[in-house]
Parts: sequence; C-alpha cells; structure tokens
Amino acid sequence: MVPMKDLKERRPAKRLSISRQAFLRASLALASSPLLRYLPAQAANGAEVIEVAPGVFVHQGLYELQSPQNRGDMANASFVVGGEAVAVIDTLGSAVAGRELRDAIRAVTNKPIRYVINTHMHPDHVFGNAAFKQDNPAFVGHYKLGRGLGSRAERYLMINKKMLGEEAFEGIEIILPTIGVEDSLSLDLGGRNLVLEAQRTAHTDNDLTVTDTATDTLFLGDLLFSVHVPTLDGSIKGWLALLDELSRKEAARVVPGHGPHTMDYPDALTPEQTYLAAIAADVRKLINDGKTLEDAMESAGFSQREAWKLFDHYHVRNVTAAFAELEWE
Ligand SMILES: [Zn+2]
Repeated sequence: MVPMKDLKERRPAKRLSISRQAFLRASLALASSPLLRYLPAQAANGAEVIEVAPGVFVHQGLYELQSPQNRGDMANASFVVGGEAVAVIDTLGSAVAGRELRDAIRAVTNKPIRYVINTHMHPDHVFGNAAFKQDNPAFVGHYKLGRGLGSRAERYLMINKKMLGEEAFEGIEIILPTIGVEDSLSLDLGGRNLVLEAQRTAHTDNDLTVTDTATDTLFLGDLLFSVHVPTLDGSIKGWLALLDELSRKEAARVVPGHGPHTMDYPDALTPEQTYLAAIAADVRKLINDGKTLEDAMESAGFSQREAWKLFDHYHVRNVTAAFAELEWE
C-alpha cells in the first residue's frame, strides 16, 4: 500500500487542481439544473464526476431505464489516476456517454488511459467501451465476461437500439476483454495498484470487484445496488453467500454499480441483503406450500416495494429467476 502522502506528492497538483476546479464549477452549474444536464453543451465539459478519494473519481448514473434522453447514462462509472496511467472502471451505456466520461477524464489528467475495466457484461456498464478505443487500452474483465457478453451481443444491441434511439445508439460496439481475470490480478498505475478479483456467480456469472489499495476504495459494480432495485441475472443463492462474505471485509468506502457516488462499508450492503433475503425466504415458503411461479410473482418480496426505485420494472423478473433457481433445491 502506498501512503496517501506519497500519492499526493506524486500528483502534479497545481495544474491538476486548476483544471479540476474549473471543471467542477462547470459541472456543478450544470448539475443544479436538471434540464440542462443533457444539453449538448455539456459534452464539452464531460460527464459530471466527483473525486471521492485522492485520484478516485466517480460519475453517478440515473435511476432510469435507458432512453434517448439519458443516452444510457444509468450506471456508475469511475476512474482512478495513478502516477503514470489511468484506469477506467465501467464505461456507461453508449459510446456517446462513454465519450463524455472520457472528456471528464481528460479534464482531470492527460495521463494515458491504459486500462478499461468492465465489472460485468451488462450494457449500461460496457457499451461506452468504444469511446476508449483510440487510447488503445487493455480491456479487462472476468474470464467469463467475453463468453457472456459475446453470446448476448445481438440481443443487447437490438434492445438498446430500440430503447436509446438512433442518435444515442450511434457508435456502440461490443468490445470484449483482452485480459480475462480468472482469480485475481493486480494492475500497476504507477505508485498505486488496483486489485481485481473474479467473483463467483452472483449478480451475473462474470462479476469482477476492484480495490484501489492506495485509498482502500472498493468498487463492487452491480454486486451492490443502492436506491435502484437490484437485478438478478446470476444466482440468488450465490449472491447472498457472496454478500455475506463481503460483509466481513473492510474498506474505507464502497462505490456501488447503481447508487450514490460512494457509501460506507460494509453498512451499504444491508438493504440489498434484506431485499434478496426477502425474495429467497418468500419463494422458498411458496415452493414448500406447493404454490406456483404465478403465485410467487404476485406476492414474493413485495414487502420491499417501497424501499426501491424501479421496483415495478425489475422485481417480478427477479422473483422469476429466484423461483427457477430455488425450485430445484
Ligand atoms: Zn448489472
């Protein structure tokens, strides 16, 4: 671990802080008016980002489904600036949004973008990858990411073309990882390391976590949802078991895949654990009582309805996935 003092000293502080202040002022001015957020003028300023720890920047996505208005900007995306290079963690849901993220990086630093890390295969985390092709980075993901994204590519492209519309869909490409992480991998950004860990099947079968050891910041991707209802595309049993394991770890802060820029750890995990546990308990009881999937779709986990945004859009799908898995216990 690099002491924080060293990191600060290695940053060309003066130039950086001037450009960042100007950038943040512009971002804050835009952020204060929700109507202004999507004007093309913002592209020049880049995506709105907050520095949550020294050299760690996070953009917060909207709690929405993809649309022409939000251009797939619905997940969190981050970047970490080391002494020599930059790593991007997720790239938003379109090439347009990815370019704005890249502009935000360029407003902070001119260091090469050496790594683009995708925390998992979902379009709102990977469809901005094309915006970074010009940097010729290594694209890094869980070793199962390529297979998962590759097999769903056609369907993901079709759905997103429809939901984003022609303009926001422009430039989207499926870019598969050039480096697959099977267990763990350390990336050196110069004076600070990112530790990547491939996780068991949970939110998906290709969830990758990232730890910035210099600031003890943990990036959980969609293993952690806050405010936005969790979406289950892997294994409810695996996810609950992994959350139990993760909750015994320590970190100075966590960046969720959907939710605030940064949260306290491990407290941030609790609402999601409660949500998934409620579904699992209700579905198991219904199965034991000889009830059907249709019964479950009408009742399982509905005690959680008021706690989450987008509940009505995703919850029944979560119950369906949980039922299919728990039926065979
Ligand atoms: Zn996801």
